[in-house]
Amino acid sequence: MAWQGIEGHDHLVERFRSALQRGRMAGSFLFVGPAGIGKHTFALKLAQTLLCNTRPEIDLDPCGACAACTQVAADTHPDLLTVSKPPDKAFIPLDLFIGDKDHRMREGLCHDISLKPFMGNRKVAVIDDADFLNAEGANSLLKTLEEPPPRSVLILVGTTPAKQLPTIRSRCRIIRFDPLAEDVVADLLLRGGHVSDQSEARRLAQLAEGSVGRALQMVGGGLVEFRGRLLAALSRPALESVRLAEAVQTLVEEAGKEAPRRRARFHQVLDTAVDFYRHLLRSLSGGLAADDPEMAQYVQIAAAQLLGGTETAAACIDHCLETGESIDRNVHQTNLIEFWADRLADIYQTARTPVR
Ligand SMILES: [Zn+2]
Repeated sequence: MAWQGIEGHDHLVERFRSALQRGRMAGSFLFVGPAGIGKHTFALKLAQTLLCNTRPEIDLDPCGACAACTQVAADTHPDLLTVSKPPDKAFIPLDLFIGDKDHRMREGLCHDISLKPFMGNRKVAVIDDADFLNAEGANSLLKTLEEPPPRSVLILVGTTPAKQLPTIRSRCRIIRFDPLAEDVVADLLLRGGHVSDQSEARRLAQLAEGSVGRALQMVGGGLVEFRGRLLAALSRPALESVRLAEAVQTLVEEAGKEAPRRRARFHQVLDTAVDFYRHLLRSLSGGLAADDPEMAQYVQIAAAQLLGGTETAAACIDHCLETGESIDRNVHQTNLIEFWADRLADIYQTARTPVR
């Protein structure tokens, strides 16, 4: 069953329906779960539900055709406020919440949501990229989250509660979205016309770990082939950092000229590396092998050859995660790729050097 074309989150639909029917809809929500599984789409459908002119919100079934629904879909509804991180910024700018220096508290989301609704009787705010709230942005939201204006609903969309300050977490109802089932991802790829071949859809779904977004990024981008080469490189006891950096650089350049696309591509490389080291860690600790045969094969090779055991794998995970955070801080990407590969090679090298 798909709710309004959204697959895999029916239990959450029921939660919201029940809350609305009991008149117990909270005002502040934090949606969490992996990227690319439909959290943003879900938030917009909820906004349509709350703003639709023709159907009662307790049905949780917006018509999709009235003026309000159409405006929500086009992001032009005056009672829907949306904020996200601009591609060229490392954080969501404070101005978007409380107005720029000349209009402090007279513009921005916190001001606008306090106004009376223009059309319906609710106001809805969707704050995307909530992982990229810095301290001052988060602080500017606290009062609004603590006491949302009557009949207003704020939805923060992030990936994990851990990326939020405790002051934000404690003011929001946390709604957890699970990764999608493999067959759902495969089905969405086929139905959306992104791939035409069933076995390719299944393969992508397997690699995407429940995220349609991740699967789509891999479609036709050479990433699936690159993945095998990357896993092979990472599983060798002596990591060739120059070759690895060059290969990653080429892959990143193939993503296009725009910086956000290139950053996303490098994130995908790092995600794959982190997956690899996590599976390696699990294997070294006697856990289950990866479902994906390619991953399982290289993890097995690495487990037999990579010295330093779980400590090395853990150090590599930390290094990849830290590198991932630097990507969004606008660090020069070519340097970052080289640094990433060099440091990774160092970790391997240290593991191979016998302790005297
Ligand atoms: Zn409608």
